[in-house]
Amino acid sequence: MNIEKYNEIKSGLPAHVQLIAVSKFKPVEDILILYDAGQRAFGENKAQEMKAKHEMLPKDIQWHFIGYLQTNKIKYIAPYVTMIHSIHSEALLQEVNKYAIKNERVIPCLLEFHIAEEETKSGFTLEECERMLNGEIFQTLKNVKICGVMGMGTFTEDMNQVRREFQHLHQIFNTLKEKYFQDNPDFKEISMGMTDDYPIAIEEGSTMIRIGSAIFGPRDYSQMITP
Ligand SMILES: *Cc1c(COP(=O)(O)O)cnc(C)c1O
Repeated sequence: MNIEKYNEIKSGLPAHVQLIAVSKFKPVEDILILYDAGQRAFGENKAQEMKAKHEMLPKDIQWHFIGYLQTNKIKYIAPYVTMIHSIHSEALLQEVNKYAIKNERVIPCLLEFHIAEEETKSGFTLEECERMLNGEIFQTLKNVKICGVMGMGTFTEDMNQVRREFQHLHQIFNTLKEKYFQDNPDFKEISMGMTDDYPIAIEEGSTMIRIGSAIFGPRDYSQMITP
């Protein structure tokens, strides 16, 4: 736990950039320390873990889901999640919409794009996403609010490559904004940047950085509270 580093990151952030503290695998005690320091937005990548922490922690915490979301896990987060950053398919968005209706709410979502070279990362291509946005189904999804885009850079030392990937995501954002969301003030977020690359992400237009290990220390996977 590194509160000094937290304060340093916070104080260096431009006003338009929000810090999401990624607390995955970290115990509630650590989250509470950061909560007491004023942090309210936390990110988790496992639905059951988010649910367990949501139940144990103060209710004014804003929970951001940032991991690969399986449709059968949406029910664990739908009642309270602040934003789902990782919408990677139309089928998933449809399911999120269903659970949003069940919970009588509108769930803010980001569209995740595959910008890294690594095959393992998930997300739309621009073509797939445009097919969805032009399709009939999308127009019927009234209980999800599309607030922007999200992406992860390649895990590499080559910061020029990461910068190009972030520039690419920003271009995707601009394209979608112009073609589909021009009159929609909700579509304004670019979620990119983690511990190793957030300064570059901010230079390239990020509005939400997702920082875990710089604040909480390296992840200890034995601390997982749910499978
Ligand atoms: C774990 C994770 C982060 C935070 O990573 P750090 O390198 O620890 O800052 C950000 N985004 C996603 C999607 C993650 O899974």
